[in-house]
Amino acid sequence: MSDHHDVLVIGAGFAGLYQLHRLRTAGFDVRVIEAGDDVGGTWYWNRYPGARCDIESVEYSYSFDPELEQEWDWSERYAAQPEILDYARHVAERYDLRRDIEFDRRVESAVWDEGSRRWTATTDDGRRRTARFVIAATGCLSRPSRPDLPGVEAFAGEVYWTSSWPHEQVDLTGERVAVVGTGSSGLQTITAIAPDVASLVVFQRTPSYAVPAHNGPNERLAEVRPTYREFREVSRLQPTGFQCEGGTDLLTETDPGEVERRLGLRWDRGGLCFTSEFPDILVDAAANAVVAEYVRRHIRETVTDPGVAELLSPRTYPIASKRMCVDTGYFEVYNQDNVSLVDLNAQPIKRITERGIVAGDREHEVDVIVFATGFDAMTGALNAMEIRGAETTLRTKWRDGPRTYLGLMSHGFPNLFTVTGPQSPSVLSNMMTSIEYHVDWITAALEHMRAEGLTRVEPEQDAEDDWVAATNDIADGTLMPQAASWYMGANIPGKRRVFLPFIGGVGVYRQIGDGVAVAYYHGFEMV
Ligand code: NAP
Repeated sequence: MSDHHDVLVIGAGFAGLYQLHRLRTAGFDVRVIEAGDDVGGTWYWNRYPGARCDIESVEYSYSFDPELEQEWDWSERYAAQPEILDYARHVAERYDLRRDIEFDRRVESAVWDEGSRRWTATTDDGRRRTARFVIAATGCLSRPSRPDLPGVEAFAGEVYWTSSWPHEQVDLTGERVAVVGTGSSGLQTITAIAPDVASLVVFQRTPSYAVPAHNGPNERLAEVRPTYREFREVSRLQPTGFQCEGGTDLLTETDPGEVERRLGLRWDRGGLCFTSEFPDILVDAAANAVVAEYVRRHIRETVTDPGVAELLSPRTYPIASKRMCVDTGYFEVYNQDNVSLVDLNAQPIKRITERGIVAGDREHEVDVIVFATGFDAMTGALNAMEIRGAETTLRTKWRDGPRTYLGLMSHGFPNLFTVTGPQSPSVLSNMMTSIEYHVDWITAALEHMRAEGLTRVEPEQDAEDDWVAATNDIADGTLMPQAASWYMGANIPGKRRVFLPFIGGVGVYRQIGDGVAVAYYHGFEMV
């Protein structure tokens, strides 16, 4: 096996799999390095109880092959983790991808050599591989955030992390369980385990806005299939990369009764499109407050204890400025006798003991602690590697926040691409749509370079500066920076607060990316 390749791809999640397929079909010699022992990325690691995608399965799937689209059956409106992982495995088999993937290997460093115009990547087994191009398909939410709580090692029971749940069956029946964290992973876990555990204590720092999923059999698949091609074309141009039929009337200019009616229709339909009814929700605090109150009212109507309902009601940040959750009976869980809620703002966690968690002046004795504490989003997985470019490391360059051109490349790091990198729509979109777009774009760029005999590509400093400024300006025009969210890097102590994704929309972003490519990769220096 040669240790030099045209392209080294890091990660065999949905981005890495498709990137391998595209480049190999185009005749490149590609090697993929994957830390896990199977494909699937996010869906390989996050196999906690209740794990499920909150983008509808007709949208959260590859669109590149009409045959694949027609042959794969999604059983539910929102697919559960095992089904999505099966899909990733099916794709790996169907396109014979495994033969070019090395599993159980983590890339620790990648160093650029200007003389040979090659990257040298070193994996955790000490092995080195060289490649002309490196493509980081490392995911946006793949570097777990593990808060340093004193005493964890003293705990006598079991500790689990939703972000790296064991592969063998974990039976929590009859156990006394604590869950720390109430983002999407926490909500799904809590809802799934509550019926079976002896007791459940939820440790909440910030309550989440959640809208109902209304999950069920996937009736939409039969509807969409006959015209799947056209359906995908429409999705690709939407702001979120999936179809929401966004409204155009401003909430603040709409009669309150009509606002209530329209939000009700969205609520009854379920899912993340809830906030797409009025375009001013994310930019006008008054509009946002109406929608936030709508959700809080539902929480009050669902949770029978008014004190608990109030604790579960988000009030400190605009709705949708932190990633919204999609739930299936989450708030109802708090009406169960065996479930209790600890407000960490009033009773902060002091330490973990042999028996459980001390919050405020009370020790909560449990058998199992589940941490659902999130990720060092967007930059975490990239900065975890020692990526040394022409002059410095990526970590050093990005100390005050990521700097990219189109979220695809960073000046000073030639021939290094990031799939769904920071400052691209990524986490604000259907990841599948954004992954496919970036992979197609990168593949076309590499084919162009090969055809022209070019061996080095790097974004120009000016192009990058302009893109960074533009992404920040657009975000500053919204309510998004008001939340202490992972979009802002605020969940990681010491991380610079900068809005990480591009919020201009998938359709707009696509037009920009296409325009750049058509203009002979304007803003990129190719030599
Ligand atoms: P998350 O949204 O960042 O939630 C982490 C939770 O842990 C928050 O409630 C956070 O509180 C809390 N937390 C963090 N550190 C803590 C500490 N030291 N002490 C106490 N509480 C702490 O992470 P996530 O739930 O894993 O979700 C991350 C993202 O992954 C989602 O937003 C979504 O984009 C994606 N995801 C999607 C799905 C889906 O498709 N259904 C499912 C899971 C995840 P604060 O809010 O106060 O920081």
